[in-house]
Amino acid sequence: MMRTAMQTQTVLGQMIARVADDEQYRRWAGQVERAGHCVRPVQLAGSAMTVNMQTGEVEAAYSSAGEPGGVLLVACKDRRESVCPPCAARYRADAWHVFAGGVKRAGTGDQDGDGCGEAGASPLVLATFTAPSFGAVHAARDGKVCRAARGGGRKRTCEHGRALWCTARHDARDGLVGAPLCVDCADLAGQVLWNAHVGELWRRTVIYVYRALAALAPTVGGRPVSVRRVRDLLRVSYAKVAEFQKRGVVHLHVLARLDGVNPDDPEALVPAPAWAGVELLTAALIEAAGRVSVALPVVDARTTAIARWGTQLDVRPVRASEVDAARVAGYLAKYATKTVSDSVSGLPASRPPAGETDVMQGGGVAGHVAALTETVRRLARLATCRSLRLARHVHTLGFRGHVTSKSRRYSTTFAALRQARRAWRLAQRWREHDPWAHDGAGDGAQRVVVGDWRIAGVGYRNLGDRVWAEVLGREHRQAREAGRLGLTA
Ligand SMILES: [Zn+2]
Ligand SMILES: [Zn+2]
Ligand SMILES: [Zn+2]
Repeated sequence: MMRTAMQTQTVLGQMIARVADDEQYRRWAGQVERAGHCVRPVQLAGSAMTVNMQTGEVEAAYSSAGEPGGVLLVACKDRRESVCPPCAARYRADAWHVFAGGVKRAGTGDQDGDGCGEAGASPLVLATFTAPSFGAVHAARDGKVCRAARGGGRKRTCEHGRALWCTARHDARDGLVGAPLCVDCADLAGQVLWNAHVGELWRRTVIYVYRALAALAPTVGGRPVSVRRVRDLLRVSYAKVAEFQKRGVVHLHVLARLDGVNPDDPEALVPAPAWAGVELLTAALIEAAGRVSVALPVVDARTTAIARWGTQLDVRPVRASEVDAARVAGYLAKYATKTVSDSVSGLPASRPPAGETDVMQGGGVAGHVAALTETVRRLARLATCRSLRLARHVHTLGFRGHVTSKSRRYSTTFAALRQARRAWRLAQRWREHDPWAHDGAGDGAQRVVVGDWRIAGVGYRNLGDRVWAEVLGREHRQAREAGRLGLTA
């Protein structure tokens, strides 16, 4: 951002004003820290009191009126790196714990204690489910030619007169990468509908995996494993993250684990039976991916009518070791804070707030991305697509799901991690004699916190505050980094 001398002076003035009162600054900086140095915190105004349910007594009361500016700053908690890096970093760390937790759980059946989790462990694989082709696109190929002319150098063109070859050597950052060679030949509607149905395609894939497990399993207890019986013997748990390709379609990275089932305790985590190894899980995933399909709404004669996975399915075994848990979790967590706009150049990170100009409507988006967003809008108006609510998903090119999700029994949930963090914060506040701390007073008495809050604004009150928050965030990270390296006393 270019700042004029006048603006710089104003920002400096704001920064000086912030530190003018030592006590006020200390309180404000404490708020910024508790909000995790969020770059656009929510400003809450209101009050809360703690009531002892036994005595009816108000034990503590708190009002934001006593805070700097009369507001309490709360983290925006946005997952997206492009929107709020500190909140995204926290989300990424949570995602890491969720993914790694599931990998480690695969090894909890390790009975012989050799630590490698092979005996009595649950098989675990990392699988990448890809989208099919919706027409030839420009590609970065490590310095090689994008798309050579086929058939002894004969240069073919499509019915629209466009070249079906490209001799450029694209850099990965080239905006053309992912764009169709001919935007009119490409099945853009099919691609948008595919994105819109990838969640349903995955849901059905899981059902097909159970069917495939039944079909591929050996006889157990003297009889074949039927589709009905397979869920009494095996359970598939997974965590997945969606990754947007430059061409604007979703791929799914899935950590899938095969567990056993204890009929007396369905919640228990049981290692898979010895006959259900990583080969069986791999074969079942491949079989399921090849068979499953979802019928798409009919939009026109030339659009794909059925959604299937692409032919590239990569399934690799993962060992339930600390090293593999860290490696795989890191690999998946990095996708968890990405937005479509990080992969598809030219897309804004999110829908603009009401009242602001939508750059996509105003022709601010170029080339194939504009064609794709226009396709989403066109489909949104069709009666056959009404239930998909595509108008809300223009910015994700039709994708309607969560970037990160998991099956119930895979591992720690995000909610559990948030609870842990809240408990920790309450403990911190207790030391500061804040009303919420009474939750953790530990005398057995029931207490409720009665609050009355409203959102007073979003972001910092001025650029000076925002710059201070960035400085504090940087210092905080450096201090943590130094602590990790053992540089502090
Ligand atoms: Zn934030
Ligand atoms: Zn090209
Ligand atoms: Zn064409």
